[in-house]
Amino acid sequence: MSGPTLLPGATGLNGDGQQTTLGVMGGGQLGRMFVHAAQSMGYFTAVLDPDVISPAGLVSHYHIKTDYLDQQGLAQLMQRCAAVTTEFENVPAGALVTLGAARPTAPSAEAVAIAQDRIKEKAHLARSGVPVAPYAVIEAAADLAAVPDALLPGILKTARLGYDGKGQVRVNSRAELAAAWDGLKSVPCVLEHMLPLAAECSVIVARGSDGTCVHFHPQLNLHRAGILAVTQAYEGNMPLALAEPAVTATKAIANELNYVGVLCVEFFVLKEGSPERAALGALVVNEMAPRPHNSGHYTLDACDQSQFDLQVRTLAGLPLTQPRQHSAAVMLNLLGDLWVNGATPAWDQVLALPGTHLHLYGKLKANKGRKMGHLTVTAADAAQANAVALQAAKLLGMAAF
Ligand code: ADP
Ligand code: MG
Repeated sequence: MSGPTLLPGATGLNGDGQQTTLGVMGGGQLGRMFVHAAQSMGYFTAVLDPDVISPAGLVSHYHIKTDYLDQQGLAQLMQRCAAVTTEFENVPAGALVTLGAARPTAPSAEAVAIAQDRIKEKAHLARSGVPVAPYAVIEAAADLAAVPDALLPGILKTARLGYDGKGQVRVNSRAELAAAWDGLKSVPCVLEHMLPLAAECSVIVARGSDGTCVHFHPQLNLHRAGILAVTQAYEGNMPLALAEPAVTATKAIANELNYVGVLCVEFFVLKEGSPERAALGALVVNEMAPRPHNSGHYTLDACDQSQFDLQVRTLAGLPLTQPRQHSAAVMLNLLGDLWVNGATPAWDQVLALPGTHLHLYGKLKANKGRKMGHLTVTAADAAQANAVALQAAKLLGMAAF
């Protein structure tokens, strides 16, 4: 994308003559936080999401309630908006192609298409010169037979539409692999070798159409049952010998894609002394997300610019300056599990703790495993942020970390 600078409050940049409006495909929590950031800068916003009560739709100036591929819905979005972004990678790439032909669209349909298909994604990562888990593509029964023994035990992942650990099966033997592929309806998959993880981390960068690329310090992430549970974000959360190459690799991936927008890359840190670490190095790329990321929510409260502010800037063609983190932060994801028997968690007790920032996404149904919100604890140092986050976790009935 390279387009005009879209100043907030200007008129005549949309097709509709109204003040500059930024659009987002998808109405989830990431779209909601994008809308908040855009509005606080003075933009109007439009959300396209079929769900009539989506988290972003609830807070946007305009909410177009059609399917992502609905031609009328897309036409309305283009008419309303000066530029369009996306908040989840499973937006049909065809919709972004349509939008991109008429309006600046970032990230591009091409980048999203790569990130939404693990087979294309792995090929791109290899092109970027970053190590990935040893893997095989499984598209036909013959591919199962050809799997080398060294890939087992492994994780079979559907190439498309997986998230929060969904569409993944851990397999120890060839028999389990065959059964798992059958269970996944024999759709295209990748089988990854199960790596011995010491930790997981992620890096978020924002890249403009002029190639400027800024980044946040890497986040240390704890997953439970395939879902992000805790993010620790502060200097010293991991050795610099890991943090620096993780940032460099993320920028290489963004540059190789000629990416415009906010990009998150997830990494595995391999166990010291393991044969996998000897073969691959300490850092292995897991996957990328062509959008702001759950592990970057702390930037709302702990940095002078959040990942959503940077998403707005990249979309509007505004300057990018390196964000600065002013507080140590620990983020806890608030899953539907915390609403025991439908009861609202004791937010008043949690908010009595110093440096707590509650973000709820406006979702009505607190289903198990559903991301209902997050809590960020900010503090002057990491020890304090962790201590308060542990107290908050205890109050909420979450496991310690
Ligand atoms: P999702 O798209 O659901 O986030 P991921 O591929 O990131 O899927 O996998 C979810 C989690 O499963 C990871 O964060 C990690 O904890 C674990 N996992 C995934 N792949 C591997 C692997 N090859 N080796 C070890 N653990 C893995
Ligand atoms: Mg992941």
